[in-house]
Amino acid sequence: MTANDKQKIASFLDLARDSISSGYRSEKTEYNFSDDTAMPSQFINQNDESANKKENTNQSDDQAAPVNIERQTLDKIAAEIKTCSNCPLASTRSNTVPGEGVTNPLVMVIGEGPGADEDKQGRPFVGKAGQYLDKMLISINLSRTTNCFIANIVKCRPPNNRDPHPEERDACAHFLKRQIETLKPKFILLVGNVAAQGLLNAKEPVGKIHGKFIDYKIGSMTIPLIVTYHPAAVLRDEAAYKRPVWEDLKLLRDKIASLN
Ligand code: URA
Repeated sequence: MTANDKQKIASFLDLARDSISSGYRSEKTEYNFSDDTAMPSQFINQNDESANKKENTNQSDDQAAPVNIERQTLDKIAAEIKTCSNCPLASTRSNTVPGEGVTNPLVMVIGEGPGADEDKQGRPFVGKAGQYLDKMLISINLSRTTNCFIANIVKCRPPNNRDPHPEERDACAHFLKRQIETLKPKFILLVGNVAAQGLLNAKEPVGKIHGKFIDYKIGSMTIPLIVTYHPAAVLRDEAAYKRPVWEDLKLLRDKIASLN
């Protein structure tokens, strides 16, 4: 507020006081107001992380912000993915798609690879199949913003949405493994054949291996994992795939409930 505005308000209040107390105007008081300093824009922009942190944690400037080691490691992996040229997909991508979600996920969801929308935005599962995946997750109280991390077997789009070649999967595998080791998800949900082949080296199709939990071992961890059909398959043929996907999701929901 400017000094001038403050003076106007003060004069109005003086006038009100005078008319209530005596009905006569007292001599006009000149206050020594000054202009407010402009608020730095980062405290106004709600999307700005530092502003939010300040608001949420009530930290003063000289207190160190809490360090999220997992986020730092994921950012480092994402930076490596961004400059990766270990397979031919690097030459046709618009953006790399490392994955997104919370850093302490209950469930890590793994798909096959980015499509056109994902390649455009650099984010996983944002097209039609992604919107369906979000619905599948919500139906058992999961989401990428609250308790999941979503990633893919390959981080760059295979041209014309073809399946990634085995050499492309192999070239990308260490990124996904490092993401899993960093995130330490309580459960893994694989969607589609490519995800099952890529992570488990599965020789059988989803139809043969869904509907049960498998122990996935990585480093010293054993993570319960379940495979289901890809959301794009459900969109193609609801009659065939919607019911089995729902049965798989219920198994996951019940297993999560048994944790508590
Ligand atoms: N399909 C996938 O498997 N992954 C995506 O990110 C998008 C579509």
